[in-house]
Parts: sequence; structure tokens; C-alpha cells
Amino acid sequence: MPASQLEQLEMPAPARLQWRRLCLSSVVLAAITALIVWAAVADLLQQGRLATVLSAGWGELAAPLLIALVVVTGICERIWPAEPRPVLARGHVQDACYLALHAAVVIPLMTLLSVGAASLIGSHARWLELRATAHWPAWLIIPLTIGAMDAANWLAHFADHKLEPLWRFHALHHSQEELSVLTSFRAHPLMHTTGFILATIPVVVLIPARAIAPVLITIYVCIGTLQHANLRWTFGPLGRVIVSPAYHRLHHATDNQAVNLGVVLTIWDALIGYARFPARRHPVGRTGLDGRPVPVEQDRSSRPALLLLADQLAEPFRTHP
Ligand SMILES: [Zn+2]
Ligand SMILES: [Zn+2]
Repeated sequence: MPASQLEQLEMPAPARLQWRRLCLSSVVLAAITALIVWAAVADLLQQGRLATVLSAGWGELAAPLLIALVVVTGICERIWPAEPRPVLARGHVQDACYLALHAAVVIPLMTLLSVGAASLIGSHARWLELRATAHWPAWLIIPLTIGAMDAANWLAHFADHKLEPLWRFHALHHSQEELSVLTSFRAHPLMHTTGFILATIPVVVLIPARAIAPVLITIYVCIGTLQHANLRWTFGPLGRVIVSPAYHRLHHATDNQAVNLGVVLTIWDALIGYARFPARRHPVGRTGLDGRPVPVEQDRSSRPALLLLADQLAEPFRTHP
């Protein structure tokens, strides 16, 4: 018998099978993310600014304003729920675990991804920087940059739905069958890589020598967080421009997720023909993924919350025969 066949026989079967089941594209995305984060940490350590930048990231992404918004929205969900359900419904408990993960892991990761992407673009693609905008007034260039960031986020979301390697990570967010404000935090940490790389480009291009006021970033994040609320709010006429909970709920429908991809502004959907505006008289539709391709807490055989969380985070790395 040839030596290679002997080696195969001696190798424990489960280990061999596990390697075969690892999804290569997901490993590559994890490696790219690690490289960007490494670039950011190396850069910040050299400048002695790692702790300052991480705490600034916390200031923007875990600001008191955002915490207040989550609490107030939670209260509103109890008073005017789109779908009445107990406060400790399994979906709420599971998404609360994601909130903890978001605070501990995702916020530092997001901060380092932004810094890493900016540092890589700055050192390898300086030609992207528009010097002419340096003299433009702040009231013009800052809203323009935030609008361009929102367009980049739309593009990243579009890619999440169109490209299978990215959908593997985005599917977890869509697997929630009991939407609430906490679902905003139900995301695989590696889902953010494409969005942060793309959203950094307009900042580097348009305002290479300036910064967006942290409060504006917090307001942007607040609007993006409110969209998952278990509320029927359409925002009235404002809902034609800003993503409302009712508008985003249509994106989480079990049967058609190819609409309403907007993160904060609806205009990109409207321009491409993807916008479906909800009316208050419409019934509240079901959310989640048909066939439950991602393990979910609503499944009767599901495991305790933290074990299920580990299972859900591992899911993009698995291949199924
Ligand atoms: Zn989506
Ligand atoms: Zn969503």
C-alpha cells in the first residue's frame, strides 16, 4: 500500500472530515479581517494611540444617546408592539446575548476596522484623496460624506445578499423570527468587514484631513438601530427618505429580502427600484429564513442561548454535503 494511503488510514476520521467541512471563503474573510485589524493595531501602537482610539470608538458606538434609544424603544415595543410577545421571548434573550457580544467584541473590532482600512488606503492609495474639498464649508462636505458613507453601506448590504461568501455571514442577522430593537446587534462580527472597508473610502476621499463629529456618527448609528424595533412606525412623510421600522421589516420578510436594503436613507433603494414603502394598514408580515438554514432559538430542539450563539457564529464556516 502506498505511504500516502497509509497516512490517510492512520489519520483520525473526524479530524479529516472537520477540515473538509471548513468553508474556504469564510476562512479567507476571517484572515483579511485579521490583517486589517493587525495593520490598525500596529499603526496605533507605533503612535501610542491604541487606548485613546478604542475609547473614542466606545464613545461613538456605545454612547449614552444610543443606550437611551435602546431603552426607550424597548419600552415603546411593550406599549405598541407590531407583534405582541413576552418580554423574555427566546428571540429577545438570544439578541441580548448578541448585544453583550457587540459591546465586548464588535465595537473594538469596528473601530479597528475603520482605522485599519483608512491606514491601508492612506498608505497604498493616497491618490484617492481629494484635496480640493479641503476648502469646502463643513455644512456641505460633512453631510455629503455621511450620505456617501450611507451609499457605501447600501452597496455592502447589496453585496451581502448577492455574493454567497458574504451571505454566509449576513444570514444570521436575517434568521431572527422575532424582530426587536436588539436585533440590530444580531450580526456575525465578520459581517462588518466589507461595510467598514467600503464606508471608509468616502471619508478618505472627501475629508482626508478632517473628522466627522462623534455625535453625528452616534445619531447615524441610532437611526440604523431603531429600524429593527418591533413597532409599526412608518415615520409618515419622513419615511420616504429615512428607513423606518416598518420599511426595514419588509427587508426581513421570509419570502422576499431583495427589497429595502437601505441602512439609514431610502434614496438608494428608490434610485435602483428596490424600495417598497409600507402603509400602516398593511398586516405585519413574518420574518426569518424559510427552512431555517441557520440554527435558531425558535426551533424546539434548540440549545441554551450561549451554546446556540457559538453554533450560530460557527455556521458560516461549515459546509454542508
Ligand atoms: Zn439584509
Ligand atoms: Zn436588519
